[in-house]
Amino acid sequence: MRKLTVEKTASRGIAIAPAYVYSEVDLSPDNYTISEQQVHTEIAAFQGVKAAVLKDLEALSEENPIFAAHMEIADDFTLQDAVEGKIRDEKKNVQVAITEAVEEIAEIFRQMDDEYMRERAADVQDIGKRFLLKCKNAELQDLSAIFEPVIVIARDLYPSDTVKMNPEIVKGIITQEGGVTSHVSIMAKNYGIPALTGVAGILDEVEAGDEICMDAQTGEIYVKPEPEIRETYGTKQREQEEELEKIKSYRQTDPVTADGKRIYLCVNVGNTEEIKQALDKNIDGVGLFRTEFLYMEGNHFPTEEEQFKVYKEAAELCPKEVTIRTLDIGGDKKLPYYEFEPEENPFLGWRAIRISLDMPEMFRTQLRAILRASAFGHIRIMFPMMISLEEMKEAKALVEECKVQLREEKITFDKKIEVGMMMETPASVLLAEEFAKEADFFSIGTNDLTQYLLAVDRGNKKIASRYDSFHPAVLRAIKHIIQAGHREHIKVGMCGEMAGDIRAIPTLLEYGLDEFSMSSGSVDYARMAILEK
Ligand code: PEP
Ligand code: MG
Repeated sequence: MRKLTVEKTASRGIAIAPAYVYSEVDLSPDNYTISEQQVHTEIAAFQGVKAAVLKDLEALSEENPIFAAHMEIADDFTLQDAVEGKIRDEKKNVQVAITEAVEEIAEIFRQMDDEYMRERAADVQDIGKRFLLKCKNAELQDLSAIFEPVIVIARDLYPSDTVKMNPEIVKGIITQEGGVTSHVSIMAKNYGIPALTGVAGILDEVEAGDEICMDAQTGEIYVKPEPEIRETYGTKQREQEEELEKIKSYRQTDPVTADGKRIYLCVNVGNTEEIKQALDKNIDGVGLFRTEFLYMEGNHFPTEEEQFKVYKEAAELCPKEVTIRTLDIGGDKKLPYYEFEPEENPFLGWRAIRISLDMPEMFRTQLRAILRASAFGHIRIMFPMMISLEEMKEAKALVEECKVQLREEKITFDKKIEVGMMMETPASVLLAEEFAKEADFFSIGTNDLTQYLLAVDRGNKKIASRYDSFHPAVLRAIKHIIQAGHREHIKVGMCGEMAGDIRAIPTLLEYGLDEFSMSSGSVDYARMAILEK
């Protein structure tokens, strides 16, 4: 028997089954250069491969909306320009051009400070893998052809691998690479498959057919377990199955606490596909729409029309509430089409609302798009990274300016649109009373609030154990924000990761938090935690 443990988990569930080891196909590109005469053929080969990939993705998007987002990336000019540029200007063959272009785009995502955004690099790589498989006429091991219960062990899994798995047959997933916000984690959560990612050494420890016991909540994995361990896990598994049945039976019950308070249960999303995925969870809306994606996926700042289309769709999908956070980019969150000056302290640098206020034209474009979409549902505007009342007043003045313009143009919008703010900087905590007089709502961003209050970089693995949202200073700040908001009768929500942590929910309810917004995979558990408090 061998035991492995992983510290950071974002999944739940027990699995006991033999290992299915997913082996890899060699996708390293054939390395040769081409002549001027071959440029045309290689570009045509790229176009052919792209058409085939888009066709596959279109079929897949009917099963899972993630692939609609993949289609957009595969069809995007950024990728096309990069690949064709490498073929034309650098005389690289199509395989090398795709490999390098995909890697460069993925690297932009990888450099970001937001873990969720960093994990999007895997989506870009997944698409690159599809292109290369087509170029090489190769197929992957077929995960849809597993007919006995197994735990899938792999170096990494991409959405296109995960979607093929039958959740009735695949009892668990363990990957050597990947993080807790990777798509494999998110999709596994949505399918209810226990998953552990970033398990160092798992591929060396396991052979196909070895029996595995895993607990996705504690992060424990036993390879060839002793009978006593197996028995303990069997009991735990039965208990969890009962719990799961109970959780599902709660789905249609509104989250009301024992003392009668109706809590808002919302999701955090980065695009409208993620809203569609969350709709069957009986959510109250979107507590955080991260608009960064819209800016990062294209090759230009998105136009008013492009943004309006997306926000309108979101508003129509979630008529109760969609909270659109204005652009939260900068520092080390880069855009492929805009040059940011290097900064010594990107986390404390030119980012979020600072950029929006310094680039008012760009900001107005976004605000106009949000306002126009507000005619189609209940949209709220939220500003990120606020530190001063002046910023709040300036941002609100721009909203008012856009309203005047729209009125003149006879374009409708929600005249009572709420304008709120993220509470994620120490300054916003200390000025919470004053901010509560200016803002229509607060949403506590514990991801950044923890980092800034504790002076602990949220992305630095070396100090990960010091990054603690349960630190008394963070808890005290949260309580203070809620009290300050309530004194002015405004709604206080939370959209940082802590909102979906069932260990935190009882305390947050006691503090009086009104709205919890989280990834869709946590919603069912949060509902149960609220109902059972
Ligand atoms: C936060 O900081 O808690 C938050 C929700 O915003 P982001 O993770 O996008 O920085
Ligand atoms: Mg933040």
